[in-house]
Amino acid sequence: MTDQTPMPPERGCRATPVLKERGQHEVFCGLTGIIWLHRKMQDAFFLVVGSRTCAHLLQSAAGVMIFAEPRFGTAILEEKDLAGLADANEELDREVARLLSRRPDIRQLFLVGSCPSEVIKLDLARAAERLSAIHAPNVRVLNYSGSGIETTFTQGEDACLAAMVPVLPETQEKELLLVGALPDVVEDQALSLLEQLGIGPVRCLPARRAADDPAVGPNTVFALTQPFLGDTHAALIRRGARHIAAPFPFGEEGTTAWLAAVAAEFGVSAERFEAVTAAPRARARKAIAAQAAELQGKRIFFFPDSQLEIPLARFLTRECGMEAVEVGAPFIHQAVVGPDLDLLAEGPVIAEGQDVDRQLDRCRAARPDLTVCGLGLANPLEAEGLATKWAIELVFTPVHFYEQAGDLAGLFSRPLRRRAILNVEAAE
Ligand code: SF4
Repeated sequence: MTDQTPMPPERGCRATPVLKERGQHEVFCGLTGIIWLHRKMQDAFFLVVGSRTCAHLLQSAAGVMIFAEPRFGTAILEEKDLAGLADANEELDREVARLLSRRPDIRQLFLVGSCPSEVIKLDLARAAERLSAIHAPNVRVLNYSGSGIETTFTQGEDACLAAMVPVLPETQEKELLLVGALPDVVEDQALSLLEQLGIGPVRCLPARRAADDPAVGPNTVFALTQPFLGDTHAALIRRGARHIAAPFPFGEEGTTAWLAAVAAEFGVSAERFEAVTAAPRARARKAIAAQAAELQGKRIFFFPDSQLEIPLARFLTRECGMEAVEVGAPFIHQAVVGPDLDLLAEGPVIAEGQDVDRQLDRCRAARPDLTVCGLGLANPLEAEGLATKWAIELVFTPVHFYEQAGDLAGLFSRPLRRRAILNVEAAE
C-alpha cells in the first residue's frame, strides 16, 4: 500500500507551546453522554444515582422525550440520603431489583455516579459488584462517574467505555476494534468501507447489544472514531491492545487518512484502496465544496468543550479554507490527537483547559466570524454580534466519514448564513 498520508503543512501544531488554562469552566457534565449512549446500546439501562437537578438535566438534554420503556432514569437521592439518615445502598438495591424485574430486556445496567452521590461518598463500584453478583448471569452491572463541574460532557462516554474494557473477554485473535459510539447508519458505512477493503474481523465498542461485546487481547488493534476517548485508549492499552494512531475521520481528507492507517495495518494494496475510496472521496469533496464557499477565508475560534476541537480545526482549515484563531480543547492527548495536530498548520493559539473569562476576553478582541462554544456562552456572544455554533450539536449530528462530510461543513456554514441574513435585515 502506498503512503496515503495527507501532505502535512510546513510546520504543524504538534510542537506549538500549549496555553494551559486552569480557571472557571462553562460546560455540561458527563451525564449528557447517556443521551446518545442509550440509543446505541439497545439492551442497556443507565441509572443515574443523583439529584433532581441531574434528572432535569437528562430530561432537557433528551428533549424531554419520555418513552413507555425508557433506557435511562434517575434514582433520586433525597435529603435523608444526603444527610446520611438512610442507607442509600439498601435503597439502591431495592430500586435495581424493582427495575430489573419489570424490565427483563435489560442486559447491562450502568450505575452512573453524579455530584451528589460522590459528595456522600456512595461507593458505586462496590454496589455494582454486589448487584452483578445478585443479578448475574442475566445482567451485568457496571459503574462509572458522569459527574463534574470541572469535566466536560463527552467524558461521560469515555468513562462508560473505559468501565467496560476490563470486563471484556480475552482473545488472541487479530481483530480490528472500532471504538466510539457512532450512530448506527454511520457505523454501517464505516463497516462497509472496511469490508470492501478486505479488513476484518471488525468489532465495535460499544456493541449494539451486550451479547455482541467485543473481546480484546494482545493482537487487538483499535482505531478511535472519537477524539474524547483518552481513558478508554489507556484502558485498552492496559489490556494489551495496540492503537492505530490516525487523524479522525472528519471530512474527505481525515476519513481517507484514517482508513489508510487502518488499511496499512492490514496490508491492503494501493489499487484496492483507490478502487474502494475513489467514488466516496469524490462525493465527499463535492459535498464539502458546496458548503466551503461560505467558509473560505472566515476566522473561527473554538472554546474548549466537546474535545472535537482539534480534528475539526484541521478539517475546517485544510478542507474548507477557514482560518483558526484559537483552538481550545479541554484536554490534549498527544497520543490521540497528535496526527491531527501534525496536519493543522502553525498559527492558531492552542489552549488546553478552561478559564472562561480570559477566553471570552480573547474571543471578543479577535472578533472571529464564527465561535464554537457551549450553549451557555452562545446566547451572550450572539447578543454581542458574534455568530456561534453549539459544540454539543457536533455529537448529536452524524458527522463522521465520507457521506457526512458535506453535512459537517454545513453545520459551520449555516450559522454564518443566518448571521448574514440578520445583518441585512438589521441594515434595512
Ligand atoms: S453537574 Fe453534577 S449535579 Fe449537576 S447534573 Fe451533572 S452530575 Fe448532576
